[in-house]
Amino acid sequence: MDHIQTYKVKGMHCASCASIIEKTFKKKEGVHSVEVNYATETAKVAHDAEKVSPEQLSKIIEPLGYSLILPMANDEMRMFAEDHAAHLGPNQSKKEKSTELAEMKTKVTIAIPLAIFSGFVMAWEILAQFNAVPAVPYVWSEFFHHILPLMATYMLFVVGKPYLLGMYRFFRYGSANMDTLIGIGTSAAYLYSVIVSAFEESLRPFLNVDHTYYDVAIVVIAFITLGKYLEAQSKLKTGDAIEKLLNLQAKTALVVRDGREVEVPIEKIVHGDMIVVKPAGKIPVDGVVVDGSSYVDEAMITGEPMPVSKTVGDTVVGGTLNTTGAFTFRATKVGSETLLAHIIKMVEEAQGSKAPIQTLADKISSVFVPVVLVLAFVSLGAWLLIGTSYLGFAQALSFGLVSFVGILVIACPCALGLATPTAIIVGVGKGAKEGILIKDAATLEKLNKVNTVVVDKTGTLTKGKPEFISIQKFSQMNDEKILAILAALEKKSEHPIAHAIVSHAEAKGVSLPAVHSFEAIKGKGLRGIVEGAEYFAGNAKLITDMHLTIDTEVLEKETRKGNTPVLLATREQVLALVMVADQLKENAKDAIDRLHSLGIKVVMLTGDDKNTAAHIARRVGIDEVIAEVTPEDKLNTIKKYQAQGRIVAMAGDGVNDAPALAQADVGIAMATGTDVAIETAGIALLHGDISKLVKAINLSKMTMRGIKQNLFWAFIYNIVGIPLAGGLFYPVFGWLLNPVFAGLAMAFSSVSVVTNSLRIKSKSL
Ligand code: ADP
Ligand code: MG
Repeated sequence: MDHIQTYKVKGMHCASCASIIEKTFKKKEGVHSVEVNYATETAKVAHDAEKVSPEQLSKIIEPLGYSLILPMANDEMRMFAEDHAAHLGPNQSKKEKSTELAEMKTKVTIAIPLAIFSGFVMAWEILAQFNAVPAVPYVWSEFFHHILPLMATYMLFVVGKPYLLGMYRFFRYGSANMDTLIGIGTSAAYLYSVIVSAFEESLRPFLNVDHTYYDVAIVVIAFITLGKYLEAQSKLKTGDAIEKLLNLQAKTALVVRDGREVEVPIEKIVHGDMIVVKPAGKIPVDGVVVDGSSYVDEAMITGEPMPVSKTVGDTVVGGTLNTTGAFTFRATKVGSETLLAHIIKMVEEAQGSKAPIQTLADKISSVFVPVVLVLAFVSLGAWLLIGTSYLGFAQALSFGLVSFVGILVIACPCALGLATPTAIIVGVGKGAKEGILIKDAATLEKLNKVNTVVVDKTGTLTKGKPEFISIQKFSQMNDEKILAILAALEKKSEHPIAHAIVSHAEAKGVSLPAVHSFEAIKGKGLRGIVEGAEYFAGNAKLITDMHLTIDTEVLEKETRKGNTPVLLATREQVLALVMVADQLKENAKDAIDRLHSLGIKVVMLTGDDKNTAAHIARRVGIDEVIAEVTPEDKLNTIKKYQAQGRIVAMAGDGVNDAPALAQADVGIAMATGTDVAIETAGIALLHGDISKLVKAINLSKMTMRGIKQNLFWAFIYNIVGIPLAGGLFYPVFGWLLNPVFAGLAMAFSSVSVVTNSLRIKSKSL
């Protein structure tokens, strides 16, 4: 049976590690697909559990210096992924990360003073050559030349151990990563220096024995260790959105058991538990208020800044914060079913997913290391072959060595590998904070290209809570009876319109008769049998389909005001016209304006009456309206725009828009309350608000811009860095990069990429 599981991976140091692990897994029989993400340090593996177990998977990468962190109990794998207790997982690994960081910090605190010291010696000697400072006194110089080898030995074998291991694995298993490059580079500098020091006298005729490269080994290792430390530190920061979400989770809840309030851990809460929420208390799970009332701050989940009123019958969401009131609610969703648990899972998965834009960078970094190794040797060879005749052997060898080390050190695919995933992690996390849930990196990337937004009217532009406005009779039946029949029918419907009519009837105290053979008529209304007679209720289309006549003048007049008509009819005649009206959302117009200013075409798509729709469209400034459509028409409309070559995002409530949402390039579900099918759409906007759609598009643009900047700098850096380090510019400009600067540039490049990604976090949407 095929088994898809995401494992945390230990021991990844660079982007090329990801491709090494991918390649190794793919070679194994029974493994179908692998996706390794360096930024999240995870591997998503689809494998045949009978042919390879997770333990075996871990075993095959262990010689290469990696391992998988395996879930506790194998057979409970599914639970592990789903159970919300498992969401403590990232927290634990964060602890591990922190110890790793602490170790790195110790290394850095030792390495940096050593690097500064040798840098100081180096600078003095260079400046003395130009007579800028007095020459190093003999005693000092002797001292330096004895202490530097010691320091270099320490740096290479203690601080630089991972790089030596990388080199060892290359020779033993043929797998090379960035550690391999640094290992070979620094060992070459070190070995050359040791040989020169040891055979100083016999080599003097051939080489410049006064020049050693201990300082290069010291400084390069120090810089790279510092760079990795800073990178690891910022990488931890890119992922803190998940941690913040985890921290929203309450640890305990006050549950009424046997008439008493007892404090229980939230894992122990079951469906139907009555939970007491005190002022300023956290709501532990999702549920429905059964007693009391309050205002609840839902900003952490929905991004909505104003506390929301909660009274009996309203839903509350786990992780949100009560203000001053007190209430009791019945738990309806617990553990992994809660909205918060879904959000966490979705964010984790999205952060670990790969954006299509990364494919190129991945391809390059997978061949990068071997190519660089070859280039380094080519460059050394070229110096010796060509350089010797111009510069003499000693100088050519010394330049060749400098190029060799420089290329190996500067050409690290690290920045390339971090460019995309770090930005995705930050972007997805930032979205979650704003109540914008993004399913995967590909969706975030596609949203950036959207040039047409199709919006559903009800619930997206309008509040989705229409109210009863008026009733006009066309028959002898009395008002109350008409309302009773209509409300009885509507009571069976889930459409927002139905709600308006039912609550109006209930407010008037009308008692509702029983309904038989109820049937919804898609996109038009409904039918049913009340007290032996058949009735229909719905829009004008339903009536014309039945070949009944309506007073079009009255209908026109009412719909032009923006109100929605509901007609009640028998097979023979129209009985009444009820008008309901839905209010525009406050920021709908502003949001449409902002979409327009982004150059996006906005189209309204609705099953509602033409006139009603046109009225609403005018008020929000939408110029293209497609009204009176059935759900299938909605789907076809999306297809039509796509056929014109447009990239379409569709925003709807997801109830009857699901096929259209699925067809759109990006489906955006406007969610309210806890009943969110967040997995079904590409993006879910919590607290369904169209202005969030604008924010989502901005976020996508921001993230993609970040990624492109990162990729650009990462590429440029390597394109310029390698020939510079190789000495390609030496014959013309006399430029040859000191390997020390190569180390500095290398460290700087990955740190700057991560920092650039982190910038997305503080930008406003
Ligand atoms: P939309 O979500 O855009 O309103 P629907 O397909 O849900 O699209 O509905 C289309 C139209 O059918 C509604 O605008 C309304 O006129 C009519 N309709 C649907 N359900 C009902 C109902 N329960 N009562 C009255 N009219 C309804
Ligand atoms: Mg709808």
